[in-house]
Amino acid sequence: MTGDEYAPVPPLKAGLGCRCPRCGRGRLYSGLLTVAPKCSECGLDYSPHDSGDGPAVFVMFILCALVIPFVFWLELALTPPYWVHVVIWPPVVLILAIVLLRPAKALLVALHYKNLRHKYDGGN
Ligand SMILES: [Zn+2]
Repeated sequence: MTGDEYAPVPPLKAGLGCRCPRCGRGRLYSGLLTVAPKCSECGLDYSPHDSGDGPAVFVMFILCALVIPFVFWLELALTPPYWVHVVIWPPVVLILAIVLLRPAKALLVALHYKNLRHKYDGGN
């Protein structure tokens, strides 16, 4: 089946659900952040739709805007010893980065597929 035989899947829906950008049913990831080689439902080859480092840059900026105010608030309001910052913030940043990176990466893959599907899907 080519991409024209599937109902269009909104990139936001495919991205937030971490689903295939063509059929909207197959899982995009085969691991935590590893994109599967192809869709298990429609067979779409994901390899041309590489998001590169783009999602990581977006997530870094978003995380910085989210976490830094809390770091300053904690420091100014409670003035804890430095080891408290060392214990709290690395796990918070790591968990939030993974939580945000999955849909961000899936969204960029879905946008890449939507805008360049004619190049990779159907041959036109
Ligand atoms: Zn699919």
